[in-house]
Amino acid sequence: AKGAGKGDWKRYRPDLQTAMIERSALRQALHEAVEREQFVLHYQPIVDLLAGAVVGVEALVRWQHPERGLLGPYHFIELAEESGAIVGIGGWALREALHRCVRWQRDDPAAAPAYVSVNVSARQFRRPDFVGQVRAALDGTGAAPAALLLEITESLVLHDTEQVLADLRELRGLGVRIAIDDFGTGYSSLSYLRHLPVDVLKIDKSFIDDVVHSDRQAALVAAIVTLARDLGLTVVAEGIEDAGQRAALIGMGCPYGQGYLFSKPVPPEQVPATITATVAA
Ligand code: C2E
Ligand code: CA
Ligand code: CA
Ligand code: CA
Repeated sequence: AKGAGKGDWKRYRPDLQTAMIERSALRQALHEAVEREQFVLHYQPIVDLLAGAVVGVEALVRWQHPERGLLGPYHFIELAEESGAIVGIGGWALREALHRCVRWQRDDPAAAPAYVSVNVSARQFRRPDFVGQVRAALDGTGAAPAALLLEITESLVLHDTEQVLADLRELRGLGVRIAIDDFGTGYSSLSYLRHLPVDVLKIDKSFIDDVVHSDRQAALVAAIVTLARDLGLTVVAEGIEDAGQRAALIGMGCPYGQGYLFSKPVPPEQVPATITATVAA
């Protein structure tokens, strides 16, 4: 607890002490993990809800830790954000995802996703050279700008500066699309959206969880879908786990979704097969 001496803390909270030591070891390891090529990306299909066809994939990072095995973002993203390691991890993820997208399209265009969606942390986006990094990643891999969707958080645009808006415009000028991730969790007013240079809203899983059983959640999701359409934005619903949720979303006119109903995130080698199989879902 705050104010307690170090001795007291050691005596009463050995578990906490262990956690802090582990945390600092993890922080150190994180900083070396990019260079040691310990990160991998898994990909989750984004599906046309009505047709069942895969339209794109979201790249989701995993850490192949030498002792602990494959760690999901839950175990390290927060620490990476806080320590700044996320800037290197995110830059790597961007290049890797684009590189992969180009290979899929070259190897088997029929089973290749049309675009890859890449998560960008606020800290990474705010770097003065971020737009330049995106341009370099596109040039370096030969990927078409239209094959890239960047997922940014609501809080980044909520606390927007002129610089954030200018960068968003510049990225869109290149032909890259922008999504607001976890939409609905950041308390932005819906009318605020009107002024944002973005293309896609991703409705957070927490809203989809109760979309069948809560009239309130359903009304909220329906309102977001309608508003998005009026503003000319595309909508993707996250975390669809059952057919009832899919049907409810289709009923609301939500065009796209992703979730375990269609596929969990899979390693890159499995993406073409997953795409071929998902059309039948
Ligand atoms: P997110 O961007 O909201 O990604 C969706 C998360 O929900 C993923 O978790 C995905 O595996 C999971 N998910 C998808 N469908 C379902 C479903 O039907 N049911 C359930 N229960 N979960 C589902 P994951 O892969 O653990 O990623 C967690 C978060 O870590 C992501 O949330 C994102 O915020 C962050 N993250 C992942 N990769 C990156 C990255 O490269 N850069 C940055 N900055 N953040 C990343
Ligand atoms: Ca995301
Ligand atoms: Ca989410
Ligand atoms: Ca997120």
